[in-house]
Amino acid sequence: MSKIIVLGGGMIGLSTAMLLARQGHDVSVFESDPTPPPESPEAAWQAWERKGVAQFRQPHYLHSGGREIVDNHLPELKEALVAAGCVPFNTLNLMPRSIADREARTGDERFATITGRRTTLEYAAAKAAANVARVERGVTVDALLTGDSVADGIPHVTGVRTRDGAEVHADLVIDATGRRSKLSDWLVGVGARPPIEECEESGFFYYTRFFQSHTGDVPAFRAGLLTNFPSFSLLTLPGDANTWSVTVFFFTGDPLLKLLRDAVRWTSLISACPTHAQWLEGEPITDVLPMGGITDRYRRFVVDGAPVATGVLAVGDAWGCTNPVGGRGMTMGLMNAVGTAEVVREHLDSPLDLAFAHDNMTETKMVPWYRSTVEMDRIRTAQITAAIQGQPAQPAKGPGDALAVAMLYDASLFRAYLEITSLLALPREVFSRPGIVDRIMELADIHPPAEPPCPTREELVTMLR
Ligand SMILES: Cc1cc2nc3c(=O)[nH]c(=O)nc-3n(C[C@H](O)[C@H](O)[C@H](O)COP(=O)(O)OP(=O)(O)OC[C@H]3O[C@@H](n4cnc5c(N)ncnc54)[C@H](O)[C@@H]3O)c2cc1C
Repeated sequence: MSKIIVLGGGMIGLSTAMLLARQGHDVSVFESDPTPPPESPEAAWQAWERKGVAQFRQPHYLHSGGREIVDNHLPELKEALVAAGCVPFNTLNLMPRSIADREARTGDERFATITGRRTTLEYAAAKAAANVARVERGVTVDALLTGDSVADGIPHVTGVRTRDGAEVHADLVIDATGRRSKLSDWLVGVGARPPIEECEESGFFYYTRFFQSHTGDVPAFRAGLLTNFPSFSLLTLPGDANTWSVTVFFFTGDPLLKLLRDAVRWTSLISACPTHAQWLEGEPITDVLPMGGITDRYRRFVVDGAPVATGVLAVGDAWGCTNPVGGRGMTMGLMNAVGTAEVVREHLDSPLDLAFAHDNMTETKMVPWYRSTVEMDRIRTAQITAAIQGQPAQPAKGPGDALAVAMLYDASLFRAYLEITSLLALPREVFSRPGIVDRIMELADIHPPAEPPCPTREELVTMLR
């Protein structure tokens, strides 16, 4: 049994701790926020103070790719999600009416998930993790400790120093401190070379409002979870306890849509979108919640063929994070946590091998997801910029772009689209299937880009000013 410290008790820190505890290790989680999970999911929504997670009361959805990982690797989390009242949801139910073939197919259960508000998801993870690992709340880590190097010139991390000066030693330190991870600074602080870091502002801004139905009648979807209109998008996510969230997201450089911070204007925009107006039919349980300044960030800890340090690994948002429009963070974090647990099982006794194996895992398994997400952001940014400038929608250029149109007319392509958006298969896996790209391009050629009804730009100006 080895001693492992996980820094950060968010969704991915807790999940990583559960996976490693299952291997028989002595796992401690150090979480800087002091408040323990309250006694119920509703109390978590109302009152759990989680200053360390800026997005704690922002919209969250667990994709079926994440659900599949939970089913296969974290049964105790699955049980806790069900017990906390998380709701089943199947994205196949969002199949557009334009598809005639609506027969169920073998394997359709892959598109099912279980989801809830972030507060409920994390409440469940905290309950499940507390049964197998020590979760110490109110402990902020400030620095790394090092011991004898295992490879020339490479610092070897042997523990952490907490803000109150305690030194805690371990065989392995795992950073799961999220988007604002200070691991690069801490590494430099112990004499390591800085990791490679790519960072770009995603350029989107979000205004969200949560609603609840007290009758149990939740409005029906008339569009997908995410609908792209010319200069903005709407994201509607199911939650637990008959709640749902409605988010408008738009380009930061669009001052007109910044006016949506005002609840009256926000409501008039949603009312004016026929595929989404029904989502206002509930009791608002929050004001319009703003969120912006989100960066896409990727880090690599092997530089010029050598790890910057041994004895420390990063998972979840601390490894890499993306713009949340696609709701990919938790699922990517779960993939990373499972990959990390696998390399720890194989290589924990050899810190140098572990550092290389973790790098290989993240580069082969995680980076393609990171890159495809950033690419999707760039495409969407270009579309929104063109719309703001009054340019017409561009015809689809490649299969990724064209699939968004073609999937409206073909049951197999709709499933292929769901596989990508639900993080069940990478775009390159889907597009390498025989004949699929030809079929996508053929349908995208016949059909113009989808234009769901919404106010024109001129109508928006009149409505919001
Ligand atoms: C607006 C928004 C909406 C999102 N929506 C979705 C969605 O719909 N679906 C989805 O899958 N993902 C979504 N995400 C992404 C998701 O929130 C993250 O991917 C996920 O929270 C990552 O979990 P984590 O455990 O890596 O980090 P976090 O959840 O950020 O947890 C990090 C933890 O580390 C603690 N910590 C920080 N510093 C220290 C320290 N020095 N010492 C000790 N503890 C420390 C913090 O207090 C915190 O608890 C969204 C993100 C945003 C910003």
